[in-house]
Amino acid sequence: MSVGTNTAVDVRIMTRAELALHGVRSDAPVRRPDGAGPSDDGHFLIGHGPVDGANAALPTNPESPYSLRDGRVWLGEDDTGLTLSAVDRPQFYDLTTADGVPYEHIARLHGADVLATTVVQTCIRYAESDRCRFCTIEESLRSGATVAAKTPAQLAEVAEAAVRLDGVRQLVMTTGTTTGPDRGARALVRSVRAVLAAVPGLPIQVQCEPPGDLAWIRALHDAGATAIGIHVESLDEEVRRRWMPGKSSVPLTEYEAAWDEAVRVFGPNRVSTYLLVGLGEHPDELIAGAGELINRGVYPFVVPFRPMAGTLAARDGIAAPSAELLTYVTEGVAARLRAAGMSGADQKAGCAACGACSVLRAAGG
Ligand code: SF4
Repeated sequence: MSVGTNTAVDVRIMTRAELALHGVRSDAPVRRPDGAGPSDDGHFLIGHGPVDGANAALPTNPESPYSLRDGRVWLGEDDTGLTLSAVDRPQFYDLTTADGVPYEHIARLHGADVLATTVVQTCIRYAESDRCRFCTIEESLRSGATVAAKTPAQLAEVAEAAVRLDGVRQLVMTTGTTTGPDRGARALVRSVRAVLAAVPGLPIQVQCEPPGDLAWIRALHDAGATAIGIHVESLDEEVRRRWMPGKSSVPLTEYEAAWDEAVRVFGPNRVSTYLLVGLGEHPDELIAGAGELINRGVYPFVVPFRPMAGTLAARDGIAAPSAELLTYVTEGVAARLRAAGMSGADQKAGCAACGACSVLRAAGG
């Protein structure tokens, strides 16, 4: 795939892209070993130019050309100008529920101040023929790192402790897809209500497939969710069929209807979606599609595909995209976000507000 030629690439953005793909030679006490979606990383705070202390989810990779020394990122003997520090292990990880479940198995710290949980850790689409090829949602279950279904009471208990002990400022709640027309939204509604009863005012983002019955979007909002992610990963039908055989059975028109209803209910820039770079979509089409999402009021969270251990993609030897491609797409989407006056931070909760898994923040999006 060729990348457009008009890039006056910002070196800092390119370096941030390389870090997202190749990681850094360093340990990280806070990790996200596997789970739903495309990330599998250590958690850091990164400083680049005007952005200081931004969340960054980076592979901890002993083979990376980038090292961490004296709080800075080095490429060989060259100081890249980026600052980096690992996020400390939070105190709430040391606690256990009354029924014996470690809090860490119920929700995890992402970045320095985001609590994240997968309410239902199973997915109806996890058969090998249906599964998204970048996803490991049930692997963390098999490895014993989490529990299949978190109760609303457990989530409320952990959220309260994470806010009180570790300064958590927002909660991301995702779910595997369940049977029934809510596609997981029902469990999210109950969980949001319980968490907000324990921690009033905590910004919460919910993430699910487009519910078959769009009334669930209103129910999620009325339960108190601040933002919603309805993640399509690609707008290219051929890419969707190849990478997401099960999920692509939900037509793009259903995504569009769900996004529009979500923007109507939650308001503009409270709705987001993931777009993965590196699935084979033409970069200019990806950028144009992101522009259309922005016009609908949906924030396109652009994230590099990476072949995480345990995914079908890794088994099949599919490589991550190049840093040039990631930089090109990120800069193109960030320019459209800036033109629309849309920033990830304004989502208040969720992946776009966290920004760790994307290079968009470094590019001004
Ligand atoms: S962007 Fe989303 S998945 Fe990535 S670290 Fe932040 S909250 Fe977690």
